[in-house]
Amino acid sequence: MDLKKLASVLITDNDLLPIEEYENIYPERVRGEKAEVTRLAPSPTGFIHLGNLYSALADERSAHTTGGVFYLRIEDTDEKRKVDGAVESVIRSLKYFGINFDEGAEIDSPLNKYGPYYQRQRAKIYRAFVKDLIERGLAYPCFCTEDELNAVRDKQTSEKKTTGYYGEYAKCRNLSEEEIYKNLAQGKPYVIRLKSQGSVENKIIFRDAIKGEVTVTENDQDVVILKSDGIPTYHFAHAIDDHFMRTTLVIRGEEWLSSLPVHIELHKVLGFKPPRYAHTCSLMKMDGDTKRKLSKRKDPELSLDYYRQAGYFPKAVVKYLMTILNSDFEEWSLKNPDGDYRDFKFRIEKMGKSGALFDLEKLNDISRTEISKLSPEECFGFLKSWVDEFGTDADKAHFKDDKYIIKVLALIMGAGGKKRRKDVERAEQGVRLIDYFFDDTFKPEYSFRFDDATVNCVLDVFADMYDPADDNSVWFAKVKSIAPLVGFASEMSEYKANPEAYKGNVSDVAEILRIAITGMPNSPDLCTIMNILGKERSLARLQAARR
Ligand code: GLU
Repeated sequence: MDLKKLASVLITDNDLLPIEEYENIYPERVRGEKAEVTRLAPSPTGFIHLGNLYSALADERSAHTTGGVFYLRIEDTDEKRKVDGAVESVIRSLKYFGINFDEGAEIDSPLNKYGPYYQRQRAKIYRAFVKDLIERGLAYPCFCTEDELNAVRDKQTSEKKTTGYYGEYAKCRNLSEEEIYKNLAQGKPYVIRLKSQGSVENKIIFRDAIKGEVTVTENDQDVVILKSDGIPTYHFAHAIDDHFMRTTLVIRGEEWLSSLPVHIELHKVLGFKPPRYAHTCSLMKMDGDTKRKLSKRKDPELSLDYYRQAGYFPKAVVKYLMTILNSDFEEWSLKNPDGDYRDFKFRIEKMGKSGALFDLEKLNDISRTEISKLSPEECFGFLKSWVDEFGTDADKAHFKDDKYIIKVLALIMGAGGKKRRKDVERAEQGVRLIDYFFDDTFKPEYSFRFDDATVNCVLDVFADMYDPADDNSVWFAKVKSIAPLVGFASEMSEYKANPEAYKGNVSDVAEILRIAITGMPNSPDLCTIMNILGKERSLARLQAARR
C-alpha cells in the first residue's frame, strides 16, 4: 500500500511542518538538573474541585521547590464540555489559594514559549504527527459506525472478552487499499486509530513517582488518536504536549493509571521519552463507617466555590491539603507554627499510596488556628473581602465602620492578651459571630434561667449603677454587689460550701447581664463588650431584656 499517498489523502492540510521541526521550535528547556516542569491540564468545563487544587498544589510545590516551572494547559479537545469563562475561573480559583502559574493559557509571561496552550489551537502539530504515523504504517483510518462499535462491544461482553477495538475485532485494521479508497469515495466519515504493536501477553514494569513499581499489561487496543473532526483524543494530545512542552513530571489522578499502557505505547511510537508519572490517590471521606470517594453529587465540599463562599481562610485550606500531601508536614508545622508552608521540603515521593482521607473537622481546626494568628486589622481585611462578595446589605453597612469592627475583633480574637481565642473559623461564621454588636442584627432569644422578678431586679440595679468609666474590677465589684439583693451568693466559695442556701451565685448575675447584652449565655469579656457598645446602647439592651 502506498502509505505516503494514503497519509496525504487522510490528512489534507498542506501547511504541516515536517515533524523534526518541532524539536527545534520547542527545544529542551534550560533548567537545573533537578528542576521539575509540571502542569495542570484541566478541561474547560467550569467545574474546578478540591481534587484539582490538591493536584495543583502538588504540581506547584514540585516545580517551585526544585526551581522548575508550573504551567497551565487547557485540554479543550471535547468542544461539548466547554464552558465560557472556565479558564479564568481556574486561574482565579487557584490564585485565591495562593497558587500561581508561571506560564500557560491566559498567563501573561515571557516564559510562554511552548504554546499555544489550548489544545484546539495545536491541531496542526497533532495532525503532522498523525500523518507521520500513517506514513509509517502505525496508524490507519477506521470507518466503523457507532452502531457497529456497539454491536462489537455487546458481543465481547456476552462472550466475557475484553471490550474494545483490538486484534480480531479491529475490523478496519486490515482493510485493503481498495476498500479504504472505496469508503473514502463514498464519503464515509472516519477516525484515525493507532495500529497497536503491543500484546496483552507482555507485562511492563513501570516506576510511578508515588506508587513506586507498578506492573501493567501492554496495550493492544487500537485507540482513536484523531477524531472525525480532525481533533485528537486526550491520549494523543497529551503525549505530544507533554513532550513538546517539555514536561518532566505529570501529576494526575489515579483514575488515569488504567490508560498508562496506552500512553506508554504512544510515547514509544512517537519516539518520545515519557515524562515521569505520579498518580495521586483519590480524596476520600468517611460516610458513617465506610470510606468513599468525595463525590460531585453528594459532597458540596468537593467544589472549590464552597470554600470561598463559606469564607475559609485560603492559607488554612492549603495547609490542610499539605498535611494530606506529605504526612510529615504536620510535624513540621507544629515545629514551625509561624513558618510559611513554602519552606517545607515537599517531595512527591512522600505522597500517600492509598486513599487520602479528607476530614472537614481538621480543616476547620486549622482554619481557626490560622485566623487566630491574624492581627485584628488583618482579620478585618479577610472578613471584609468575604462581605464584599457574599455578605448581606446589613453586613456591608457594618463593615464600613472599620474602627468599630477592629475593636470588636480585637476582643473576639483576644488580641493583646496572653491567649488568642480561636472563635473565628470561617469568614461567614465570623461575620455572624459579631452580629450582636449591631442593633439591626441583634436578634436575641433570651434564655434566662431565673424567675422574672430576679431577672428584672438584676437588670434594673445594674442599669442604675453602670458607669462606662469603670474598669474591669470596679465593674465586677458592682456585679457582685447585686448578688445578695436577689438571694445569690456573692462569693463562689460561700456558694460551693452551702449551695442549698442560695438561689444562685455571682456568675449567675453576670449570666443574666450577658444574656441581656449579647443574647447569649457565653461571650468574651462582658465589661469590654458594654464598653464597645457604649452606655446608651448597653442601657437600652438592659431595659429591653426586662420581663
Ligand atoms: N484533561 C485531563 C483531565 O481534566 C488531565 C489529565 C492529565 O493531567 O493528564 O482530567
